[in-house]
Amino acid sequence: MIASFSDRALNLINELKSNMTVCGNLGLFMSEKRCLGVNRNQIPWYPIIDYDKCVADCTKCVKFCGLGVFEFKGEEGKVCRSIVKNPYACTVLCDGCVRYCPANAISFPSREDTKKLIAKLRESKSEIGNDRLSTAVDN
Ligand code: SF4
Ligand code: SF4
Repeated sequence: MIASFSDRALNLINELKSNMTVCGNLGLFMSEKRCLGVNRNQIPWYPIIDYDKCVADCTKCVKFCGLGVFEFKGEEGKVCRSIVKNPYACTVLCDGCVRYCPANAISFPSREDTKKLIAKLRESKSEIGNDRLSTAVDN
């Protein structure tokens, strides 16, 4: 039996609800494992630190991100610095930490390319909920 549109929409909402965490209001609802029905580790959205710019003792990104994406690594006798410890904990399309970095050392991939990739991955997986996806990623 083919599910009605409202059944499919309800299924998608339930799927999102069971997987969601939110970082501020900048990114898509997601978990470390799934984002809009796509395996999170198929979406290369996470911060990249330019260590030519990063200020060694600064910990602003670590303090700012509530999802534990960054960690401050320090060893006696060595330079201490922030690292991206849990890249896939980063909320897809959030880039909140960029503006808190005093050295402009954090970057992300293109938002447009990421949206296209998610849509493509969803398309290849299933057609369910694609109407809702285009609404979500366009907003
Ligand atoms: S964009 Fe930055 S602040 Fe937002 S979840 Fe990712 S690492 Fe954390
Ligand atoms: S906020 Fe920027 S400068 Fe500070 S530790 Fe993070 S990446 Fe480095």
